[in-house]
Amino acid sequence: MSGSLPRPLPALDRDNAAYWTGGEKGELLICRCGDCGYYVHPPVRFCPECESRDVAPQPVSGLGSVYTFTINYKQWVPGLPERYVLALVALAEQEDVLVPCNVVNCDPDAVTFGMPVKVLFEQCEDLWVPLFEPVED
Ligand SMILES: [Zn+2]
Repeated sequence: MSGSLPRPLPALDRDNAAYWTGGEKGELLICRCGDCGYYVHPPVRFCPECESRDVAPQPVSGLGSVYTFTINYKQWVPGLPERYVLALVALAEQEDVLVPCNVVNCDPDAVTFGMPVKVLFEQCEDLWVPLFEPVED
């Protein structure tokens, strides 16, 4: 079902542009503190751990696990699949970096808590929306 969801797209700004466009180069870019190494997401140029403003986007592995999820069963608007997965994925680099996303390329009923996933990107206009899919064994 990848590519089939109608998506309202975010307005890009200085803080979030890297997150939404890194997929053009196949990179998931997450803001990271240059002083203490803490990842900050959603992207802001301020570290809540050490109050540094030396925070900039850096590529991460794109690996993570399903922290929590729900399955949508209702076709709220025309064109919306009847079943799709809304999830928070915890990134491998830092477990409290939770990325809201869709889990795709699998049966929604096959998604489980803690399931290993990896990022892929869906181009929508000039944005590359990060999605996640199961890691193949
Ligand atoms: Zn910091």
